[in-house]
Amino acid sequence: MNDAMSSGNHERLIEDRLGTRARVYGTEQAILVGIADGSADMETFRELELLAHTAGIQTLATVVQKRHRPAPATFVGRGKVEEVKAAAMELDADAVLFDSELSPAQARNLEEAIGRKVIDRSQLILDIFAQRAATKEARLQVELAQLRYLLPRLRGWGMSLTRAGGRAVGGVGTRGPGETQLELDRNKINRRIHTLEKRLVKATAERAVRRKKRMKSVIPRIALVGYTNSGKSTLLNRLCEVDAFVEDKLFATLDSVVRRGAVAPGRRALFADTVGFIRELPHHLVPAFAATLEAAQYADLLIHVIDVSKPTWRDDHRVVLEILEQEVFHGHERRPETLNVLNKIDLLPDGVPSGVEGIAISALEGQQIEELKAKIASLVFPRDRAIMFSFPLGALHKLSPLTTSGRARIVEYTGEAAHVKASVSAVEWEALERDGGCLISCGASPAEEP
Ligand code: GDP
Ligand code: MG
Repeated sequence: MNDAMSSGNHERLIEDRLGTRARVYGTEQAILVGIADGSADMETFRELELLAHTAGIQTLATVVQKRHRPAPATFVGRGKVEEVKAAAMELDADAVLFDSELSPAQARNLEEAIGRKVIDRSQLILDIFAQRAATKEARLQVELAQLRYLLPRLRGWGMSLTRAGGRAVGGVGTRGPGETQLELDRNKINRRIHTLEKRLVKATAERAVRRKKRMKSVIPRIALVGYTNSGKSTLLNRLCEVDAFVEDKLFATLDSVVRRGAVAPGRRALFADTVGFIRELPHHLVPAFAATLEAAQYADLLIHVIDVSKPTWRDDHRVVLEILEQEVFHGHERRPETLNVLNKIDLLPDGVPSGVEGIAISALEGQQIEELKAKIASLVFPRDRAIMFSFPLGALHKLSPLTTSGRARIVEYTGEAAHVKASVSAVEWEALERDGGCLISCGASPAEEP
């Protein structure tokens, strides 16, 4: 088979395929279509608008059909399809956006019936991810997810997309040119998938090396998880006083961001911001979260940020727990402790809703941040002990991080050594011991002086 495939062709594969029919250009105007059964569904529909906005799509109109479950052939009923078509013509819409993942057949039927580009929720999320993936690994993962999404949908798009004509390749046979071309496309895509998988194995191995290096640090690692737009990046900025990317758009943070922040004088922790979780996350996309998932998997503490000002917060909370359970910690024995943070209380004049235990804060306005820090400190520095030890004078400079932050104090000098009172964790003590520290006495708890 003379299917010359330069790598440039490979790169253009998605561009060609998704480009003509399905790529979201960010300048489009669309009609949003969904089905609703109650007010909670309406809220998830607003989420679709926010997703569209994130992708740069302008919403021209929304069409909602009241029904329990989607129609098998066209998602919404026949009558609604006509309504959407009429609206698309009248408003001159470029695309119609559906609030669910459509089956390949549904997408094809709808595109034929409406005569406009049909985009589903998964595709939209995929596209946002493609726009925002910053690391090499995330980009590979997103491309892989896009191709896997595309593969079963080729048939509908196959005919109009390639002009080369498949007849010459397929030769004699029962298959029409479209069929042959389809097969060629499938082969191309499968080969590209194979290449991507191989590259990913390498990228994953590189990440494991970086992780090992990081694990050597005794600084506690804290991962912020939560539904998209719940305020994770805002909180990270609060805690670390540096700027992470905050936006009222979904998935502003795709790759994980790590910052250092102090939770008490001299007590620093590493905070990892993670991509937000969202309902109906296309399954293929989960590996694109790899860096994020890892930040959560190897954390000493998870902070679950919940936007309690949102009417659907309980559902969002459940979705996040499910994703953590099924995708993040599935098969993992070790699971870090979780601290719930009920965020955006500034928007709730009537107080914090009940149901989930946690610390209520406003990441934006700063309410209760000190309390949160104290709580974090108590969780990640739990085994601090007040101790007295002797320390060689020649190594005193190693004590300075502790003494300058007030956590250690020299009480007397005795010839070659200093006697020191300090409040330290077991890990810190190990380091001090290696530097020549010799324990004199140890209190039972942080409050107890030796
Ligand atoms: P992320 O997707 O979880 O990282 O959420 P972001 O930190 O990007 O925040 C999403 C939106 O919520 C932004 O517009 C923030 O300004 C807003 N936000 C975050 N925390 C608060 C808060 O405590 N109160 C209010 N009113 N808005 C907040
Ligand atoms: Mg964010």
